[in-house]
This record gives sequence, structure tokens and C-alpha cells, in this order.
Amino acid sequence: MAKQDDLFKKVISHAKEYGYIFQSSEIYDGLSAVYDYAQNGAELKKNIRDYWWKAMVQMHENIVGIDASILMHPTTWKASGHVDAFNDPLIDNKDSKKRYRADVLVEDYCAKIEVKIEKEIKKAQKRFGDTFSKDEFVTTNPRVLGYQEKINTILSRLGKSLENEDLADVKLLIEELEIADPLTGSKNWTDVKQFNLMFGTQLGASADSSMQVYLRPETAQGIFVNFLNVQKTGRMKIPFGIAQTGKAFRNEIVARQFIFRMREFEQMEMQFFVKPGTQKKWYETWKETRLKWHLSLGMGKDNYRFHDHEKLAHYADAAADIEFKFPFGFKELEGIHSRTDFDLKAHEEYSGKKMQYFDHEENKNYVPYVVETSIGLDRMFLAVFANSLKEEKLDNNTTRVVLKLPSVLAPIKAAILPLVKKDGLPEIARKILDELKWDFSTTYDEKDAVGRRYRRQDAIGTPFCITVDHETIDNNTVTIRHRDSMEQNRVKITDLKTIIKKEIDIKSWLQKM
Ligand code: ATP
Repeated sequence: MAKQDDLFKKVISHAKEYGYIFQSSEIYDGLSAVYDYAQNGAELKKNIRDYWWKAMVQMHENIVGIDASILMHPTTWKASGHVDAFNDPLIDNKDSKKRYRADVLVEDYCAKIEVKIEKEIKKAQKRFGDTFSKDEFVTTNPRVLGYQEKINTILSRLGKSLENEDLADVKLLIEELEIADPLTGSKNWTDVKQFNLMFGTQLGASADSSMQVYLRPETAQGIFVNFLNVQKTGRMKIPFGIAQTGKAFRNEIVARQFIFRMREFEQMEMQFFVKPGTQKKWYETWKETRLKWHLSLGMGKDNYRFHDHEKLAHYADAAADIEFKFPFGFKELEGIHSRTDFDLKAHEEYSGKKMQYFDHEENKNYVPYVVETSIGLDRMFLAVFANSLKEEKLDNNTTRVVLKLPSVLAPIKAAILPLVKKDGLPEIARKILDELKWDFSTTYDEKDAVGRRYRRQDAIGTPFCITVDHETIDNNTVTIRHRDSMEQNRVKITDLKTIIKKEIDIKSWLQKM
């Protein structure tokens, strides 16, 4: 655990030091669980958003993108169930006065048992060496089976209690498991209560005419209310999808773990409208497609796993998370939900407007079913950033800190560095930069020894450093240094664009899907 904490601390401080993420309004001591993206962070975030948008919208003839407003008519949230049911179970510790999500306390308890399972696996791996089969071990070892059984029992009881709104039993579970306040060790808990996560505000100035509205807690509803508009104006035929990226707001009770759980965050969602009865097939298809998207970034197959939901939300008939191995363990990165016709039907009912599709092949109207893919852009940022941060021991016994971002996502693709600040080298370097900046985000750096400049770019995650030296004057060649291998090659200035493009071209990355 200590190691994980250390790594996570390094991630947070690196994000600040290298211009990725700052605490919001830091000069006033910040605002809890609200963050700003800095100069490099904004670029990385934009590149992740583009990578998603290209994969989801541009590459699918039957998916279009929209950009709906954050403020929506308040009845939207009545229809969606958020006014009545968008609650988290919270519990306070009477001694520390700290507030927790009751379900998260129980889940964290289970995560600790999971760590024990991992330890058993590692021990056995060492003992059995090459002959070790993980699958066989976890399905036969009595200790592991016991741990797993315990986790299953706890989570299934938690799921049932939450579903039945039996909050007294959630408290009982916490007491039976002797779960203590993680900060103080106190077991002196209040009852569990429900807490609505929506931020409310007033629309309009005068007291009589102002209206209670909400900052949207998810982007999905902006898609549902526009379903017919898009279908008609885009002449979309089922199955088709509507995608969007945008801000969402949740007054989270437990807002920790940096940008993993924020109060203001960004979602990238796609709602796929299908014929009733075909939703299971599409649900499986989108689970697979979305996992492939993640894997295309090359961040390691073992860092992902599916988690099928025991407790389904009120609108779903199937749901799974794609979990990622964050520095603090496996956690939800993306949700894939089969949302049935719940949302469109609810909007029909509350608005009195038909939300139906006329199927020419079937010659009938119906309310489509929906399969949703929903990923947090900030969580994806954290996954990419944390996974890329490496400390490497070099041959000369020094270490380097390098951010091995997938090059397609790197905020700066190339740094142009004159070896020295004289002899006309800066002028040539600027000329190269002026040419490359039409195609790539670039930077120029002439300060400090070139070795230090390389380290600086390694820490930012720049895939290429291009150094202009005296030989450049003679033969129009430069050295190009590759971030990951640190290899340097001499190449013609005129070849730079092709070399960089080959490495960072979104097409070749997405084709790995
Ligand atoms: P969690 O269980 O972690 O609270 P959720 O199941 O409520 O998440 P969804 O409503 O399914 O999340 O939202 C879809 C995605 O939006 C999540 O997979 C996650 O990546 C992202 N997300 C949700 N809440 C937050 C938040 N507070 N901060 C950052 N990202 C979030």
C-alpha cells in the first residue's frame, strides 16, 4: 500500500511541476475536488477527447456528435430519476466528524481482501515458477477461494441492501465488518442517510419568476431530449448513435484521489439507439469495442478488467465497468450500460411528446432501446498520466523521470533545440519550428545544456527532440532523439515531418483496434 501511495504522490506532484494540473483557485487554498488543467494538461486532455471523438464519431457512419447545454429544463431531471434517486448513501464518523460514502467503505474493505489474494498469487508464482497457472490457482486454492467467497458475500449483501433502500442493514454491515474510519480508526458511526448529488441553482433574477435548475450530473440526458431532432434532421436509421463530450457536475461526498473523483468533470458519452430485443447483442459489441479502444493505446492488457454490476441502476438491464489499474488499485474508468427504453419513455411521459422511431422495415413505431458507453475524460487522463510516469535507472547509474505517454496523445510532439545559443543555430532551429508547427504542436528551448533540456522534455513526455548543431549548417541534417529508447539518429531536415507523422498519426494508432 505504501508503495502505491508513494507512486500516487509522485503522479500528483509531477502533474503540477510539469504544467499538467493545478488545484483550482490555489491562491485561496483551492476548492475541494476541483482542478484546473494547465498548459500541457489542456493539450493532453484535448488529445484524449479527439482520440475518443475520432474513434466514436468520425469512424462510424451511423454515429453523430452533438454539444448540448449544461443547463436543461428541470423536468429533465424529474424524468431521468435524478431528483428522486441520484443519491449516495453517506455515513458520518461521530468522533472525526468526517463524512464517507457507506458503499465505498465496504468496497474498500473488499479491496483489502483482494490485495491478500494478489499476495497469495505472487507467492505461488514464485513457488511454482514457469509451471504456474494463475487460472488454475485462483479456482482451486482454498485460501483464495475463501477470500473470494467473503468478497462475494459482502458485495452481494451490500448490493441487495442498497437496492432495497435498507440503509439500516448497510450500517449493520459496516459494524459487523468492524470497519473503522480510515483516518482515525474510530468505529463510532452515525446512521446511513441518502444524499442527493445534484448542484442546484436559480435561473432568472426575480424571486417570483426564477426557476430551480440543476447543473447536469451527466451528459446523457442532453442526448435523449434531442433524440428525435437528431434522428429526423440527420435522417438516421436505427441502429445509430449520438455522442457528446462535456462538463458534468456532482456534489460528491467523498471527493479524494485527485482527479479520479471531482465535483466538476467531463464525460465522453455515446448513446446507441437499437431495436428492442437487440440490446444484449449491442451491449456485448460495445463492451468489446470500447475495450479495444483502450488497448489500442498500448497501456498493457493486464491493466484492464471488466466488472459486471451486481446492483443495476433503475434504468438498466445489464451494466459493466471497464476497470483500470490506477495507482490505488483497480477502479471504474468507463461504464457500458444497457439502459433499456427507460429514458426515452420517461421523457415521453413527462413531456407529453412522442419519442418514437418509425421503422420502415418493420412498418411500425417503437421507442428504441439504448446502449450507453460513458467514460470520464479526467479519469482517462489520470489513467494515461499515471501509467506513463516512469523512473528509469540508466547505464551510468543515474535515473531519469520520463512520461512515456502514448505519442499520439502527447501534448508536445517535438522540441527543437539549438545545441548552442550562437553561430546561427537558433535561427535554423526557429526555421524548422516554423515549418513543423503547421502540422504538430512544437516547442523551442535554448536554455541550459542539451542534456538537461532532454530531461525536461522526457518529464513532459515529448516524443521527439530535434537538435540543431554545427553539422546542420554544412549538410541540412539534425539529430532526432526518441524519448523512450533515447536513441539518436541523424536525419535530413526535409524528412522530419514524415518521421514524426509516422509515429503520432492517429490513423495508425486507431488501426490497432
Ligand atoms: P463511480 O461509481 O466512480 O461514482 P459512476 O458509476 O457514478 O462512477 P457513471 O455515472 O457511470 O459513474 O459515469 C460514467 C463515467 O463518468 C465514470 O465511469 C467515470 O469515468 C466518470 N465519472 C463519474 N463521476 C465522476 C467524478 N465525480 N469525477 C470524475 N469522473 C467521474
